[in-house]
Amino acid sequence: MSDAIRPQPGILDIALYEGGAAPSGAMTNAVKLSSNENPFGASDKAKDAYSRAVHQLHRYPSTDHAALRTAIADVHKLDAARVICGVGSDEIIHFLCQAYAGPGDEVLYTEHGFLMYKISALAAGATPVEVPERERTTDVAALLAACNERTKLVFIANPNNPTGTMISAAEVAQLAEGLPPQAILVLDGAYAEYVDGYDGGLSLVEARSNVVMTRTFSKIYGLGGLRIGWGYGPKAIIDVLNRIRGPFNLSNAQLEAAEAAVRDQEFVTRCRTDNARMRAWLAEALAELGVPSDTSLANFVLARFADPAEAEACDAFLREQGLIVRRVSGYKLPNCLRITVGDESSCRRVAHAVAQFKGMR
Ligand SMILES: *Cc1c(COP(=O)(O)O)cnc(C)c1O
Repeated sequence: MSDAIRPQPGILDIALYEGGAAPSGAMTNAVKLSSNENPFGASDKAKDAYSRAVHQLHRYPSTDHAALRTAIADVHKLDAARVICGVGSDEIIHFLCQAYAGPGDEVLYTEHGFLMYKISALAAGATPVEVPERERTTDVAALLAACNERTKLVFIANPNNPTGTMISAAEVAQLAEGLPPQAILVLDGAYAEYVDGYDGGLSLVEARSNVVMTRTFSKIYGLGGLRIGWGYGPKAIIDVLNRIRGPFNLSNAQLEAAEAAVRDQEFVTRCRTDNARMRAWLAEALAELGVPSDTSLANFVLARFADPAEAEACDAFLREQGLIVRRVSGYKLPNCLRITVGDESSCRRVAHAVAQFKGMR
């Protein structure tokens, strides 16, 4: 290839995102606990809506997503005109970087933050800036100290992945209040539904002009394979994002399934309750085996081992038992394994296998 053909600056610095490992075909009775997927799958209502979409394959989908935005607005009591839907919340993150950050601008995120923030910042030609956390928890003072006149976007996930930790609404408000005037705070609420009574930052979005919230159908709704997410923010920002959104970014099947899913809050409540029960059980069982974790508010537990070698050895041992969990060295947590909270039998299998690994059973 000619040396004259070169991508935009930043793009060759992107390290490809690696998804959670999937069990190989040879494994029998394997369970995938590496991608924070819902062990119960999706709501039957969402599956039915998806099936019905087969009759619309020849039709172009809606460009304004009005039906899905209305359903989201009904359920969350918000303004449908300020909702934007995307191909996963990843696409909303991408739109934000593309629209608001470019060469010379800085995009902040936390030390153990989601890798997509850095990838999208680099894709936009902006400079990614990683800010230290305090004990695997978002540090508002450190984020504010890292801001300057080049700061355009500040991403935090609350609860965060892969740490599972969360900061208070008061701390998030303090962060929004302290940002320089040209910066937007993005609250990634991928795991918000797992926190009983938490609005994902919605009230802060309503109260301010510099906060955007992102949400996803990939986690508690069990629709990760279908790729649907949404964002909510000030009208002026959502209008900007809609200008760069492809008009047909979501298919009929995605729109119909998501609409049915969000209207089935009974399913969401059931999943939240079961997750909380099994998460507490798993964290406690691991702690008794000498494997501590921070209090997780999400659908996974970040198990901490003595050192990277022990984490790696335990990962290999679990894999031999057909238990696929996530190593998180890429998130600067080499001595940890992130274990998705599965159904009861999966959680019991994990605890049993870790006990065997520790020579305690
Ligand atoms: C899983 C996850 C998402 C969701 O991404 P989608 O593109 O909506 O599937 C977003 N943010 C964080 C922190 C996540 O862990």
